[in-house]
Amino acid sequence: MNIHEYQAKEILKQHGVAVPDGIAVFTVDEAVAAAEKLKANGASLFVVKAQIHAGGRGKGRTKKNNAKGVILAKTVEEVKAAAESLLNDVLVTIQTGEEGKLVQRLYVTDGVDIDKEFYLGITLDRATSKNVIMVSTEGGVEIEKVAEETPEKIVKEWVVPGHPIHPSQARRLAFALGLEGNAFKQAVKLIISLYKAFDATDASIFEINPLVQTPSGDVIALDAKINFDENALYRHPELAALRDESEENEFELEAGKYNLNYIKLDGNVGCMVNGAGLAMATMDIIKLAGGQPANFLDVGGGANVETVKNGFKIILKDPAVKAILINIFGGIVRCDRVANGIVQAVADPEIAEKVKNVPIIVRLQGTNAEEAKVIIDNSGLNVVSAVLLKEAAEEVTNAIAS
Ligand code: GDP
Ligand code: MN
Repeated sequence: MNIHEYQAKEILKQHGVAVPDGIAVFTVDEAVAAAEKLKANGASLFVVKAQIHAGGRGKGRTKKNNAKGVILAKTVEEVKAAAESLLNDVLVTIQTGEEGKLVQRLYVTDGVDIDKEFYLGITLDRATSKNVIMVSTEGGVEIEKVAEETPEKIVKEWVVPGHPIHPSQARRLAFALGLEGNAFKQAVKLIISLYKAFDATDASIFEINPLVQTPSGDVIALDAKINFDENALYRHPELAALRDESEENEFELEAGKYNLNYIKLDGNVGCMVNGAGLAMATMDIIKLAGGQPANFLDVGGGANVETVKNGFKIILKDPAVKAILINIFGGIVRCDRVANGIVQAVADPEIAEKVKNVPIIVRLQGTNAEEAKVIIDNSGLNVVSAVLLKEAAEEVTNAIAS
């Protein structure tokens, strides 16, 4: 689960990580009041930042007003103008895709003078089963680019989850950033605090880009991107409450309500599969056959009428879907039961209406697969059964081509 920058910074602040003061607002009037308040506390420069669940805001532009997603303002009047240009406009960045994201919240913060910009990220390194803390002197730049072109400029330390980072590791990282004196000390403290926050919140990503050194030698997190592990959110109701559903894909949201594991993709072949691994393999095979999956959907181990129906509803919500491939392996669940589930689901009036022009290819393998094939073939529905996965993928790709 993603959260907004201002929420992320609030969490960092609670864990003792230095961030600029700021106030989240929803209206122009609130933005002006926020700037007045920051000014009363001594601010002489402000930053107005669009709060959307996507990065690249500084280089992004809004559709109507051509405003940048991060605007420096010297006066309260400039804050007002910035807020007017951003609120209710659609911001397009490298991460939002062409459709962009509607700006509904802003973060008005103290402006900071920057001497140097760094990158600092923490995530799980699956290859080592450890958390990896990465720093780079190439701050403000996309880290993917640095990793590709100059990987030697990324310095890493690994920590076993549940354990604290060792101070010597934090020192090595701060040293790699070329920091000295007070700035070095501050960076060490910041890295230790940040790692603690990462571990304590069951986060999957912490990204501080940029981490900055000010002319006076302070080290501050100027941006913050946090992602939480959804499977651990039940341990953190206060973090789960930070969810902003308006930022999330509507199909994925609905799938969440049905307890289905669904991810929207760009293609036109709807997929319904049991098991995440098989779902990945199915998408690969569809691609191999020349098709493009419209989604990832794992209906879980016990595919029954209800889950199959809900799966159809989610898949069919996406107007891009031109054909559906159902790939179920009957291990615990018996194929004949799944076949009956599919037949019942397709006969459901709401679903039947929508699948009139959407061919459905079903591949059922495993326990009672033969009985299942007979059920599908004799159903009289617009459903084609296939025995081999390759065959199924070719069928579905051909169905779209024809
Ligand atoms: P992003 O583009 O979505 O990653 O948003 P950031 O919060 O990283 O801001 C983009 C850029 O704006 C940063 O890389 C900085 O160069 C600049 N910026 C953000 N806040 C400040 C600030 O307080 N002072 C100055 N001088 N620049 C800032
Ligand atoms: Mn950034």
